[in-house]
This record gives sequence, C-alpha cells and structure tokens, in this order.
Amino acid sequence: MPSCPICGAPLSAASPCDYDVPLDRAPGIGDPEAIAQGRESHAGHEVHIARWRVHHPDERGASPAVMAWARERLLREGHRVPPA
Ligand SMILES: [Zn+2]
Repeated sequence: MPSCPICGAPLSAASPCDYDVPLDRAPGIGDPEAIAQGRESHAGHEVHIARWRVHHPDERGASPAVMAWARERLLREGHRVPPA
C-alpha cells in the first residue's frame, strides 16, 4: 500500500490523504470520546494529531515547537517528514 509522502499515512489509490482535510474531519481527532472509551490509545491519538499537523503548517498555532514535535513524533513512527 502506498503511503502519504507528507505524513506517512497509508493511502488508498483512489483518494488523497485522509489527513489533508480540516481538523474536525481528520481521522481520530474529531472524536474526543475515543480515548475515554478505550477505542483509541493516547499514542495513537498523538499520531493522528501529528499527521494532521504536518499537512497544515500554517493553521491554528503551528509554532516552530509544535511543528518540531509533529515531525519528531512521526519520525518515531518511522516516517521522515519532507522539508517544508
Ligand atoms: Zn498525509
């Protein structure tokens, strides 16, 4: 399966990256109950946030520290985010 060159998410052939969307439509982010109910781990949630963040470097308080966190978090998942 191909993966997104930006965030490393698996891509289905027919669609753009699931994370290249507004925040409230990104997988695992617009569902705050998921962690509370145990359907999502904290680590998994971090990866959702980091993937969305590297697609949206200009949105919602993307400070250099936040962007650095997102890149480092995805690197720990084995994905190197390309330079902006
Ligand atoms: Zn992506």
